[in-house]
Amino acid sequence: MIVTKLDKTGVKEECHTHLSALFPVALLEDCSMRVFSNPVGSGSLWFDNLATADGTPVAYDPQARAFLPMPPFCANREVIGCNWIAPEQGAFCRSCAMTALAPDPSITGAFPNWATTEAAKRWAIDNLGRWHWFRPEDPGARPVFHMLAEGPTPVFMGHAEGVVTISVAEADPVLSITRRQALDEPYRTMIGHMRHEISHMLWWRLSLRQDFLDAFRTMFGDERADYTAALQRHYNQGPAPDWRQYYLTTYASAHPHEDWAETAAHLMHLTDITDSFVAAGLSSPEIPSAGWDPYSEPDAYRLIHIAAGLAVGVNHINRSMGLSDLYPFMLSDTARRKLAFVHDWLRRGAQGL
Ligand SMILES: [Zn+2]
Ligand SMILES: [Zn+2]
Repeated sequence: MIVTKLDKTGVKEECHTHLSALFPVALLEDCSMRVFSNPVGSGSLWFDNLATADGTPVAYDPQARAFLPMPPFCANREVIGCNWIAPEQGAFCRSCAMTALAPDPSITGAFPNWATTEAAKRWAIDNLGRWHWFRPEDPGARPVFHMLAEGPTPVFMGHAEGVVTISVAEADPVLSITRRQALDEPYRTMIGHMRHEISHMLWWRLSLRQDFLDAFRTMFGDERADYTAALQRHYNQGPAPDWRQYYLTTYASAHPHEDWAETAAHLMHLTDITDSFVAAGLSSPEIPSAGWDPYSEPDAYRLIHIAAGLAVGVNHINRSMGLSDLYPFMLSDTARRKLAFVHDWLRRGAQGL
């Protein structure tokens, strides 16, 4: 009952009021951070946790952005380890409810891969919620997900008319690395796929506005250019030699749609790197203040500057363990301008501003 009430509350302030009344622990900071308070004891909880350290089952309430120690849990909890709450017993959580097609369980690895895929989706959806996308205050369409396993035929990821198709096979590390090497990509992860494909869906949402379309075409070029021919040319000839001056990745240079999706995904990467850095309690001289929320930062260039600095630092930390770079990309001036454009639209687009 309490959860239903919480689920219907609108915004941050309300989440503070209700939650602090219910659980008089220090939940106030939780509404904007990736590390959460334990609702039944001491210690922290991480976004994917299903239970506290002492084994008490908990669930994440995406509306309140806090953990609760009580059902109703998502109907997918036992199936794929979804840790979000549901609006009522036996129902799916807000994220699982967006999945219209689940993979064929007879295909090897389909369910473990699906579980990893849904975890990446919950992360990406929760991040976007910080800019109000797909929350109750967003009056627009929600994405519909088709989560497909790969049998003998490959699954092509993509977006069409609000439907996002994801190959859950990409959650398999061997397959993912094989494809990353074949395509000569510096980075390939499920959360990267998720952000890229959702970005196409966000473009579709924003493209209902003429002011967006006009501004988009000025910044990214005309997306009405023949898509199939552009992709064909990209795979046959590769990118222009000077692509680094204008694009974040070679794929972004193929067509304005892919440039948007890559740029929007990178804005989500950079904002989340910064948010996770701050949430982990780490510090840097570049961080404006102790309570600074990267998702609320209005100055895109400031955010990008801070994120780029942190990425260089964390890349160096990764080398201490022989790992590849966290963020293996360079940000040209043109790329920064496009990132700032995306930032502006993603911050206000969900609210029709
Ligand atoms: Zn769920
Ligand atoms: Zn794409």
